[in-house]
Amino acid sequence: MPRPLVAGNWKMNGSKSLLIEMANALRKEQLEACDTWLLVPAVFVEFAIQQFDTTAVKVGAQNLSGQAPGALTGEVSAAMLEDVDCRISLVGHSERRQIFGETDDEVVTKTKACIDHRIQPLVCVGETLAERQAGQAKQIVVDQIGRLMEKLTAAEMAAVVIAYEPIWAIGTGEVASAYDAQEIHAEMRRTLSDYYGLECPQIRLLYGGSVRASTVKELLAQPDINGVLVGGASLDKHEFVQICNAAAIAD
Ligand code: PEP
Repeated sequence: MPRPLVAGNWKMNGSKSLLIEMANALRKEQLEACDTWLLVPAVFVEFAIQQFDTTAVKVGAQNLSGQAPGALTGEVSAAMLEDVDCRISLVGHSERRQIFGETDDEVVTKTKACIDHRIQPLVCVGETLAERQAGQAKQIVVDQIGRLMEKLTAAEMAAVVIAYEPIWAIGTGEVASAYDAQEIHAEMRRTLSDYYGLECPQIRLLYGGSVRASTVKELLAQPDINGVLVGGASLDKHEFVQICNAAAIAD
C-alpha cells in the first residue's frame, strides 16, 4: 500500500505570515509515516518552499498553464514551476473546471505538461450533486479518468495522484460517507487496473470534500483511499496538524 498522503489546498487564501506559522507548527510534528503536501497560491510558492525546507512537507502549486511559455499574460508555465523547484501541482480542481471553464482536454494537457517538467500532478475528478442524484457519479468519474488514460502511458500515469472530490462536498461541510467514497475509489482503481494492468502499479487515490480531523480516520480506513485533499481545514494549523497526525497513525 502507498503511504498515506495529506494534501492541503489553500485556494486563494493565506499569507506569508500564515506560511511561517504553518511551517513552525508542522516542523514540530513526527510525520514520517505520512506524506504532507501544501498547495499554495503561485505567488507564495518560492517563499513556501524556503519555509518548509527543513520539514518533511512538500510545496506545490494549485494550477498551471499547459502551454509553452509565450504570449499568455497572467499565466504560469510548467517550466516556470520547475525553475523554482516546485515539483507538485494540482490540476483540474472543480473550482477551475466550474468557475474558469477548464475542460477535460485542458486537464489532460496540463497533466502532460507537469509530467514533461518533472512535476507530480494531483488531478481532481468528481461529480455534481445533480449527477449524483441522477445515479451518474461512478460514470462521471470513470469518464474523467478515461480522458487521462487515453493520453497517458502506464509510466506517465504512475506519476499521477488522483483526488476524488464530489463537488457537492467541497467547502459545504457535507462529507461523502466513507462507504460512498470507498465505492467510487474502488471503481476508479478497477478502471485504472483494467486499462493498465500490472504495468502501472498502485496509483494513489485521495478523497477530498470537507475533510476534518474528526472524519479523516474513517476515510483512511477504507482499502482504496490513500489520502485526503483538504481545503478549508488546511488553513487552520491546529486542525491541519491533527489531520496529518491522524494520517500518520493510519499508515
Ligand atoms: C478542496 O478545495 O479541494 C476541498 C476539498 O475543500 P474543502 O476541504 O474546504 O471542502
